[in-house]
Amino acid sequence: MTNPARAASRAPAHIQALSPYQPGKPISELARETGIPETDIVKLASNENPLGMSQKAKAAAIAALEEGARYPDGNAFALKAALARKYGVGTDQLVIGNGSNDVLEIATQAFLSPGASAVFAQYSFAVYPLATLARGALGKSVPAKNYGHDLDAMRAAIDETTRIVFIANPNNPTGTFLTGSEIEAFLARVPEDVLVVLDEAYTEFLPAEMRYDAIGWVAGFPNLLVSRTLCKAYGLAGLRLGYGVAHPEIADLMNRVRQPFNASVVAQAAAVAALEDEAFIEKVAENNRQGMAQLTAAFASLGLEWIPSFGNFVTVKVGDAAKVNQSLLAQGVIVRPVAGYGMPEWLRVSICLPEENERFIEALRRALG
Ligand SMILES: *Cc1c(COP(=O)(O)O)cnc(C)c1O
Repeated sequence: MTNPARAASRAPAHIQALSPYQPGKPISELARETGIPETDIVKLASNENPLGMSQKAKAAAIAALEEGARYPDGNAFALKAALARKYGVGTDQLVIGNGSNDVLEIATQAFLSPGASAVFAQYSFAVYPLATLARGALGKSVPAKNYGHDLDAMRAAIDETTRIVFIANPNNPTGTFLTGSEIEAFLARVPEDVLVVLDEAYTEFLPAEMRYDAIGWVAGFPNLLVSRTLCKAYGLAGLRLGYGVAHPEIADLMNRVRQPFNASVVAQAAAVAALEDEAFIEKVAENNRQGMAQLTAAFASLGLEWIPSFGNFVTVKVGDAAKVNQSLLAQGVIVRPVAGYGMPEWLRVSICLPEENERFIEALRRALG
């Protein structure tokens, strides 16, 4: 008799120990499970863009389908030129990813191996431990301070095995924010041979007065990798496109290990057009500001605690979150439980359109009785 699990049992122990990433429940899945029509379901679970994508990006994506039978430009010439122009960096400083999740993965591929370690914060993005452990490296989770990064403790956690420090700013799933000067001071204290991955997936949602220029720091900190994405504010989550900016030697190493065609023809074309449509990003940020005010006002009126957030989502304390979530699902409302992050009393809610936010607020009111 063949035993189909034999090969699986031979996978490295660090692979067998992995828990898969838990994504937001797709609308189609909840429709299948409950019989609620898809059109009656609202999803506020994956920090997706409620305004979709720029019409210019969409038109470019549709036009690019004509080239869908050809391999993409593995060097992403047009996209890198657009990014280099926008940020004043060299094209040799760029790494393009299939989403910024890919950029994070590529960084761990290039810099981690068994015996190495990576440092990240408690309540930070689930991909950091996952990608670290997948390399057979050690993940060091540093206790959070007010649900955010404790940079002093993270500095203290760095030892001679540490090759990467991950910082998400704003952070996901808690939405906390570190000022530019806090991060710059941290960079100055990190050993030069440790890569700092500054994950700025939500940077476009920051108000002007909180902005800082991390890409500008790369010239002074050759151990800094700034990771950005077009999947959140730019609305290309389904097309997948992210990028990293770093010293050319860091970018070169990362470009050696990534898949040669990791960004599709359609994603690259959409990204070039999306980067040019700044008016769209302003609209997205404005919708987010209003939605954040709408949700937090409702939380206040319900007497609920929330973590002040600088992203396109907010995490709220509801008590028995598993039970509240079940009630929300039964009402056709999908949000994100964060028990997997060690926050069983909290739910993360993505800011959506005003009427979608309202559907959630009404459902939450009923769920809480
Ligand atoms: C969403 C997210 C990403 C990755 O998103 P992509 O869709 O892969 O670009 C990276 N970091 C954080 C903190 C995120 O929340």
